[in-house]
Amino acid sequence: MNSSSALSRRGALLGLGRGAALACGAFAGSFAWAQGAPTLAEVPPATGAASAAFSADDLAHAAVLRDRALGDGLAWRLVESLCTEIGPRPAGSEADARAVAWALGQARGLGFDRAWADPVPLRVWQRGPGSAELTAPHRRRLVMVALGNSAATPPEGLEAEVVVYPDLAALRADDSGRARGRIVFIDQKMERTQDGSGYGAAVPARVRGPVEAARKGAVALVLRSIGTDRDRVAHTGAMSVDPSVPPLPAAALSAPDADVLARLHAAGQPLRLRLVVQAVAGVEALTHNVIAEVRGSELPEEVVLLGAHLDSWDVGQGALDDGAGVAIVMAAAQQIVQLARRPRRTVRVVLFGNEENGFDGARDYGTRYAGVRHQLIGESDFGAGRVWRLRSRVGPQALPAFAAMATLLAPLGVQAGDNQGNPGPDAAVLMRRHRWPAVELSQDGTHYFDVHHTDNDTLDRIDPVALRQNVACWAAVAWLAAQSRVAFA
Ligand SMILES: [Zn+2]
Repeated sequence: MNSSSALSRRGALLGLGRGAALACGAFAGSFAWAQGAPTLAEVPPATGAASAAFSADDLAHAAVLRDRALGDGLAWRLVESLCTEIGPRPAGSEADARAVAWALGQARGLGFDRAWADPVPLRVWQRGPGSAELTAPHRRRLVMVALGNSAATPPEGLEAEVVVYPDLAALRADDSGRARGRIVFIDQKMERTQDGSGYGAAVPARVRGPVEAARKGAVALVLRSIGTDRDRVAHTGAMSVDPSVPPLPAAALSAPDADVLARLHAAGQPLRLRLVVQAVAGVEALTHNVIAEVRGSELPEEVVLLGAHLDSWDVGQGALDDGAGVAIVMAAAQQIVQLARRPRRTVRVVLFGNEENGFDGARDYGTRYAGVRHQLIGESDFGAGRVWRLRSRVGPQALPAFAAMATLLAPLGVQAGDNQGNPGPDAAVLMRRHRWPAVELSQDGTHYFDVHHTDNDTLDRIDPVALRQNVACWAAVAWLAAQSRVAFA
């Protein structure tokens, strides 16, 4: 396919899909069979060891998996290795190819029954050097990072007067024509929240801002980084591309640099910026989904899917996003591999390719395995904060099973949630497309957006104790989903 149709397809995906598939609890859709169902808290909890969904043995084994995982260092070793030996790994890059080989080697070494990589051809955006400089009322360098899919400026850069908007809604509502020929600055602020809802509220400024600015005739866009830190680092992330307007050069500024622009603007000073972005879009490349399985003993054709994404942005080390998730789901499945008891259904780890800029891996997986019965899908893609809640998105007949799971996870500080869960970005793509039953293990994201998509997304930000708590939750949930006497669909 040619690059313009690739871009327009990506634009449609990012415009429509991105907001609904953020790693942030922003999923807004609902299934008919999820409506009107009781919340997990309203379902009577399993009493004693047994429940309708699980044998006493299955529940006891889940508790063993949970407790062993709390003392196991595998997830830390995996994420440490990934951050150290591979590092940042944008889809289609040389580092991404090394990450695929790394994941296959790890899966085989950990004793999974099968491990393979499905090729996913794609077109990628590649970053070149960039810079931002305030040129009036005085000159100073600003800390910036270009957004994914940003257009390039001329090599010498582009200089223009700045027009300031407090948020995306203000830009959308402006019919004055004052953005024409100027650089739009969106000073959108993000609220710190445990569940990531602050990101869901703020991120449309990044995803949709450049297209809205182009519609107003702007020549470029800068925005306050979508993040919650006060560090002098900028947060990248994808912007959508709309075939009806030319893509703009677009970049995020660090919060302290955005503050400078805001204060000068509040003082009535006219602002000018020079922006340099070098980048190329539509480059043909190849990535892979890496898949590792423990085969089921009784229902091997039915799959419990534990997902994460192997790619990362090109900044930082891809530690929290999503090295932690890769390590958590591999270590959780390995807990099941380690013990002699085989699950009834197949437990499948899927490390998706290119979550960050197009969901190519998730879409390829959905096409390739559309006919496979998925008992449950979920994804760990919210850093390494502790799990505090279990949410489902399953048929009403499966709610007692989830209530029993919640009881099992309660000693880890996990609450029972509702049946409107968001299983993570790649899994949400699959859930919407195939209506596969899904699980969300809500993580504490209070500090996630301090480092998300920045140079500060590094291994030292991961708490090894919280990492193990995540592994314990996923191991128990995966085992019970594989054992359940009840189909979750
Ligand atoms: Zn992620």
